Amino acid sequence: MSNNVDIPKDHKKRIAKTTCNLFHRVFKSLFGQHERLDTLSWSQKYRVLGSSAAESGRYNCDRTPYMKGIYAALDSTDPSEQVILLKKGAQLGATEAAANWIGRHIHQNPQNILMFQDTEKKAAGFIEEKIIPMLRSSAFRGIIDTSGIRKKGITYGDCSLKHAGGQSTAGFSSHSAPVVILDEYCRYKSNVGSADKGEGDALSLAIARTATFGARAKVYVPSTPVENSYEPGSFTTLYERGDQRKFHVPCPKCGDMDFMSKDRFRIVGTGLNIDGQMLCKKCGELSTELEYKSIYHKGEWRPTSERLAPNITSFHLPGLLSPLGWKSWKSIALDWNAAKEGKAEMRPVMNLYFGEEYNEEVDVPLDTDIIERHSGYGIRGTVHKDVGFLTMGVDIQRGWVVWEIKGWGKKGISYSLDTGKINHDIETVACRHRR
Ligand SMILES: [Zn+2]
Repeated sequence: MSNNVDIPKDHKKRIAKTTCNLFHRVFKSLFGQHERLDTLSWSQKYRVLGSSAAESGRYNCDRTPYMKGIYAALDSTDPSEQVILLKKGAQLGATEAAANWIGRHIHQNPQNILMFQDTEKKAAGFIEEKIIPMLRSSAFRGIIDTSGIRKKGITYGDCSLKHAGGQSTAGFSSHSAPVVILDEYCRYKSNVGSADKGEGDALSLAIARTATFGARAKVYVPSTPVENSYEPGSFTTLYERGDQRKFHVPCPKCGDMDFMSKDRFRIVGTGLNIDGQMLCKKCGELSTELEYKSIYHKGEWRPTSERLAPNITSFHLPGLLSPLGWKSWKSIALDWNAAKEGKAEMRPVMNLYFGEEYNEEVDVPLDTDIIERHSGYGIRGTVHKDVGFLTMGVDIQRGWVVWEIKGWGKKGISYSLDTGKINHDIETVACRHRR
């Protein structure tokens, strides 16, 4: 009796196709060669957070819905989204986003990566404490070759992840990469390189390192704001040159979409029983943190300004958005209530929770003090004979404006000619002039 079975031709074809598909799936699952996920999908499939994270276990973006728009911008190849700038408060998950972005590149989209922190030591710490444990986690066992992992840098195929401090030009001049991260940008020097060599701020230097990569070039600049500074290349300047996207969340009472801000935040109650609530500008109702965060997955990013730089997309991410159970509105209200306006203790409240710059007040001498100090130079308002030209400096703060007119002579000698202070709410003044 023969074992040969006469299989119909059509059936043979189906068996061959099924076998081919099976091998394809097996190879794909083993090596992931054909898989190319976006950063968010990759993170939710592969990223497992360790015990040092705010919430350990498999990464899930449902608790931080505002991050979805930022992941989309990081993956975008739109030239207007070449630089993704994040003005952020504390406890929002932005650092994990940087780690996820790096992990996804190493695993599925290998490119050279440059990672900067304000110091070399912090950059090394980020790689050691965040990136290396991620790559060695059980999710990647057998998927990522870990032989190239070193504390000084990580290699994968022909590519590498390098890190450096953002305080000197050395880190910016040694390597080129299409993927660059400038973490905590506000802590860098405003001018990293020397002006006479044509160098400048960290972002310009970073973009120069990506110049040969065209549309693939991407720079991620997340930072907690510190002080208002409008020097060229400062974080505040760069943020305002972008389109200033804000996460609009529906009002639980009337559904009006608006972004969370210090201006809408209200402290209710007294003593230790105070709470923080958000005022709706449309219906005038207050809503609690729980009411807002129960529906803030319905929120969306909207630009609030015209883009002044063609390649910068900027996001404002105040700590008010952090998930329930992290930094609560009640604790923000307590901290804000306890801090005094103009003093140092107000800075963390503004920087970390409202995600805004803050300038401490300085003791400004009265104009008469300054005139007396320079009384030898003449009567107030008169110009010394050595003065070649005049300058006027103005410091605009929320509640007051200080100005000074100086005369400049030979060898840089200056003469204070007049000064004054105007106490006013500058926004009220601006509104009055616009009418
Ligand atoms: Zn409302």
